[in-house]
Amino acid sequence: MTGSPANPAPIAAGVLLVGGGHAHVAVLADWIRRGVPQGALGGARAVLLTPEPALRYSGMVPGWLAGQHEQGDGLVDLAALAARAGVELLLDRCTALDPETCVVTTAGGRAVAFGVASFDTGGEGQGAALLGEDPRLIEVRPISALVERLAGSRASRRGLSRAVIAGGGAGGVELAFGIRNLAGTSPRPEVTLVTGTGGLLPGFAASVRARALRALSRQGVAVVAEDARFEGGALMAGGQSLEPADLVIAATGSAAPGWVRASGIATDADGFLAVDAHHRSVSHPHIFAAGDVAARTDRPLAHAGVHAVFAGPVLAANLRALIGGEAPKATYRPRWSSLYLMNTGDGSAILSYGSLSAEGRWVLALKHAIDKAWIAKYAALAGKA
Ligand SMILES: Cc1cc2nc3c(=O)[nH]c(=O)nc-3n(C[C@H](O)[C@H](O)[C@H](O)COP(=O)(O)OP(=O)(O)OC[C@H]3O[C@@H](n4cnc5c(N)ncnc54)[C@H](O)[C@@H]3O)c2cc1C
Repeated sequence: MTGSPANPAPIAAGVLLVGGGHAHVAVLADWIRRGVPQGALGGARAVLLTPEPALRYSGMVPGWLAGQHEQGDGLVDLAALAARAGVELLLDRCTALDPETCVVTTAGGRAVAFGVASFDTGGEGQGAALLGEDPRLIEVRPISALVERLAGSRASRRGLSRAVIAGGGAGGVELAFGIRNLAGTSPRPEVTLVTGTGGLLPGFAASVRARALRALSRQGVAVVAEDARFEGGALMAGGQSLEPADLVIAATGSAAPGWVRASGIATDADGFLAVDAHHRSVSHPHIFAAGDVAARTDRPLAHAGVHAVFAGPVLAANLRALIGGEAPKATYRPRWSSLYLMNTGDGSAILSYGSLSAEGRWVLALKHAIDKAWIAKYAALAGKA
């Protein structure tokens, strides 16, 4: 029985990776170097379930907007990595999880039974929930869809004269700079950054906030420290109209996918999959998670790509241990401060590391070097370099 298009055959995966995110590419890298882990699940299929054959590296998107990278830069070829690792690629999307019977259901109606599963699907956009629906609204997540919408032709870019970015975090700030310096536009679009009442770059050092505010002001980006919302078809913030606006981008943080909470697996209060320091579900020990979809229960961890990247090798070690019949012992211990390099779109960038800050062209050069090295590592593993 192979199943019909209306009723596709179930898949049995010994180990299932759900989502080709920043942590799972490190798992694929480990499997390319050392082979898919064998043991209790020897001979079973390893499957990567993810909707697209490539991962878009978000850190390079603002630079792409500003014309510093090509659209094809900043992609990790998941299909090639999976092929090299001997992993079956299932281009589909998880829509439900049953952690008791160990079955994931996909948007295409497939049932995937697994022995061990790991989730790295990222979070979901919550712009429409926070701002309301409007045809001009673009969610920042999924980032690949954002890029498709913004790619446009140079002609349609020339028609973009006023944009609003909602969200005062690092992603929103970088997108405001990226759109202000949007390649192929003349004159440059007018940009308003609506930070929400939490203000600009909450959680960052005062010196970083001051540098960002100066750069925004220097570039003529208006900053409004209010919550934005569509009211009667008009975008409003604190009683003030932000119209006219051709485009509104919601960089308002990520929400947990609804299927996580619906599954009955342990979550935090916001519905993110609750894991311990080994990135293992606190309720279902054969399930792991990393990246924005996960919430650490032992310590708070910001939803940031850098944590997904660093948790990747830990996840790989723990999956290998569990499949080999051992206790997963590797622990991801993030530093209390993370390095953030914010592209200001004008050939410069702002560095933030704890209470330290700096800015200049050398910061952008450092950012480009780090980003390109990460992409090049996976291109080499995929056999493309
Ligand atoms: C403009 C911008 C710039 C940023 N810059 C930085 C930065 O410089 N540094 C930093 O640390 N963070 C940055 N971030 C945050 C960063 O993008 C996220 O924290 C990071 O992408 C999270 O990685 P992840 O692996 O959890 O998920 P993702 O990178 O979102 O990957 C998720 C993967 O899962 C797949 N997927 C999604 N849903 C499903 C599903 N239901 N079933 C199966 N597969 C699914 C996706 O297609 C994708 O392959 C930035 C964000 C933005 C918006």
